[in-house]
Amino acid sequence: MFCRCALEYSAPENTRTCPVCLAHPGALPVPNGRAIELTIKLGVALACEISEHAIFARKNYFYPDLPKGYQISQYEAPLCEHGRFVIPTADGDEVVGITRAHLEEDAAKTVHAGGATGRSVGADYSLIDFNRGGTPLLEIVSEPDVRSADEADRYLRLLRQTIVELGISDAEMEKGQLRADANVSVREVGETAFRTRTELKNMNSFNHIARGIEAEVRRQIEVWESGGEVVQQTLDYEVKSDTVTARRQKEEADDYRYFPEPDLVPLEPGRDLLERVELPELPGARIRELRELISYDNALDLVTTGNERKARMLVANGLDWPTAASVSMNELAGIEPLPDNAPALVTVIKHRQGITRDAYSTSLAGSSTTLIDVDAVLAQVSIGEASELEPLVDRILAANPSQVEAYRGGKEGLLGFFVGQVMRETDGKADPKVVNELIRAKLSS
Ligand SMILES: [Zn+2]
Repeated sequence: MFCRCALEYSAPENTRTCPVCLAHPGALPVPNGRAIELTIKLGVALACEISEHAIFARKNYFYPDLPKGYQISQYEAPLCEHGRFVIPTADGDEVVGITRAHLEEDAAKTVHAGGATGRSVGADYSLIDFNRGGTPLLEIVSEPDVRSADEADRYLRLLRQTIVELGISDAEMEKGQLRADANVSVREVGETAFRTRTELKNMNSFNHIARGIEAEVRRQIEVWESGGEVVQQTLDYEVKSDTVTARRQKEEADDYRYFPEPDLVPLEPGRDLLERVELPELPGARIRELRELISYDNALDLVTTGNERKARMLVANGLDWPTAASVSMNELAGIEPLPDNAPALVTVIKHRQGITRDAYSTSLAGSSTTLIDVDAVLAQVSIGEASELEPLVDRILAANPSQVEAYRGGKEGLLGFFVGQVMRETDGKADPKVVNELIRAKLSS
């Protein structure tokens, strides 16, 4: 955020550092212009007011992964404020207010050798990788408008997709590029004031966030209903036990002693910077369009998982939306069809009920590497109807009376013998499942 170190996720530890991010005496920060542009872009997408006079502040605290002894952040005058994020739902829209979106620098990464959760068990030392230190961090704070774990899940998934499509970040949670804290409080139906909230920290998968919130909601309800009182604290969600545990308190917000960063002038983005922002069609708008064509859940999944492009390509080549959505999410898992292949793929998909499973999966797998030979695939159209197979099965059973007798006498392993005969006679085109059922039915009657 304030130096020129490259950001490479898998770079060897402590090789992307410089005097600025390692806080050598006398090193001075220079803000990253691109990070500021991208923050403004997000601010515009979230209908925020963009500050004409934003201020970087020092947030003071001591931790080994913060060599300066303070983090440069924004406190009283963030770059973006008072926005709103609209989330389409199955029957309307939810609006989540955006309190602020500000820029700061990330701390370095501390690896507690004693255990994955960070609270040392066993080993008594920690390791620090300063590569991450100084990475631009865009913090988005929402208003307390989210009413359930489900809604939090929708909010985060759509926000992530928006960030990705705006080109701000790949926002891959498993790489730590997107992290979330959730503040949770419960109240009685009809109650208007909020009760004491707790904060779940640093959750790093959508699934864990939703489950963490649910676990904390359960805990708070229990506390209130048993006559206790929820206390404000920071919590970790333990996935294995599906419970939350209190974290040892660092400092309270008041202890950070924020003050304006003396090494940086106030940030006054010119009008031209705002005018240069060009927003693409945002994912929320596409979910709204798609929920008219497919179920809302499928629309949300398609748009927020990157399967939408495949589905649109299939639809452009003549497939109906429900089939295209289902195929893209299930059968084409991890496969990106070639544009040249799409018409052939659509033909194969339309005939998939009649094609042998092998031919079908070969076509899918080939759709991202080679052209599909539709004629060859369709030549393998299977004989799937029991009515077509029945005369053949009758003939085979009649031709093998001793095997039929043995089967009826308990040698059920002979089923494979009969199925094999049918498959041979049909050049492998019969659907083995249908053949199995048919023969079994015949032999038990
Ligand atoms: Zn650096």
